[in-house]
Amino acid sequence: MEMTPLNNWIARKIGVNVSGLTRENIEKYQLQKLRAILELVKNKSVFYRKALADFKTESLTCLAGLKYISYTTAEEIRNNPLHFLCVSQDQICRVVTLQSSGTTGEPKRLYFTKEDQELTIDFFHIGMSTLVVPGDRVLILLPGKLPGSVGDLLAKGLSRLGVKGIHHGLVTDPGRTLQIMLEQEVNALVGIPTQVLSLARYRDEDGNNIPLKLKSVLLSTDYVPQAITRELQQSWDCRVYSHYGMTEMGFGGAVECQALAGYHLREADLYFEIINPVTGLPVPEGEEGEVVFTTLTRQGMPLIRYRTGDRARFIPEPCPCGTILKRMAPVTGRLNNVCQVAGGLLTMSDLDEALFPVAGLLNFQASLSCPEGIDRLTVGVWLNGEANMTAIRKALDTIPLIHSATKQGNLEVNITILPGGVPASGAKRIITDLRERGEINEKIVSGHVAAS
Ligand SMILES: [Zn+2]
Repeated sequence: MEMTPLNNWIARKIGVNVSGLTRENIEKYQLQKLRAILELVKNKSVFYRKALADFKTESLTCLAGLKYISYTTAEEIRNNPLHFLCVSQDQICRVVTLQSSGTTGEPKRLYFTKEDQELTIDFFHIGMSTLVVPGDRVLILLPGKLPGSVGDLLAKGLSRLGVKGIHHGLVTDPGRTLQIMLEQEVNALVGIPTQVLSLARYRDEDGNNIPLKLKSVLLSTDYVPQAITRELQQSWDCRVYSHYGMTEMGFGGAVECQALAGYHLREADLYFEIINPVTGLPVPEGEEGEVVFTTLTRQGMPLIRYRTGDRARFIPEPCPCGTILKRMAPVTGRLNNVCQVAGGLLTMSDLDEALFPVAGLLNFQASLSCPEGIDRLTVGVWLNGEANMTAIRKALDTIPLIHSATKQGNLEVNITILPGGVPASGAKRIITDLRERGEINEKIVSGHVAAS
């Protein structure tokens, strides 16, 4: 097994010999960068000038001291994104607008300079060398039409590696996408888990699948269902890697090594913390909490202690690949999408892990309502003809909460087949809660983290 290529890359970036890379010199570099970025935002950003008015940069003498600095939330970016800028607007060459997942609220805007984009291209170049080699051909199932979009930066990174990145965009017609893969002699894919699953589970008019020779797949999003990873490995007999990233991180955040046992982080560009979302304090090493990151090298719109809303933990044990880089376990879901149902807690990841193993299930959406005083879970499914309703009902019943709540008459489960193909979407998948929600949310989050 090869060591993650991020190891040598980070050694280069922090200016030490590969043999001399230690946790101490990574942390020394991170502290130095943190102080520099804090100084920059205090001087240049309208938002942080105010938010950090009482903070003296020289008082940050160790990484643990970061806990005295307040967080940045998505809401704050949404309210006034321009107040985060540390450069003039004419130095910005890419603006990414993210629509809010809620019904109200402003879209979130993120700004990147050319230099910021270069950092991402460099990460994609090195990170992708985990799974492809010169001469390989990768189909990119991510938005990539516009210069500076995620697909565009990925293709640029791949070309530095001598790999052909072929733009495709989101899958709207799986049969057509598979045809393109054959024509283009593609041997690797990068895409969103449910979109890639729709290719593996595609059946033609005669009910046959399309045979493909793939060596590797990279699934990229916040949460990767393990059930989808297993299905893709079996269908295509290939290696399935996960990437953890979001636009706020500059698209790229962390990628698995050949051990497939957790993400290695972009430690020279991003400083990650795991915090207790209720107390706001860092959790003990190895415990689950909310992922928070600070950008160390971005110039256009640096973010200080940005709360991602994702749940994950660091893995304290060393990685089998032999690096000294940190390892983060796969994200287990979104903090704000934990629903209280019949006295228990239900998450989208519970549903994902139960439903995606069902043969023929392409995707689903879930909502909670309370029409007659009893909670009702409605699951709308897209199927390819192989699946049957009994299998879906049985799969849902493997979730202990659903099993006991339906038995006790505290929950109704309603399954409907959705017509047409799966809509192409890169949006975060959540359980839509149509019941009245109030202050209970905070308690739910607290209860879930304490229980996990
Ligand atoms: Zn590793």
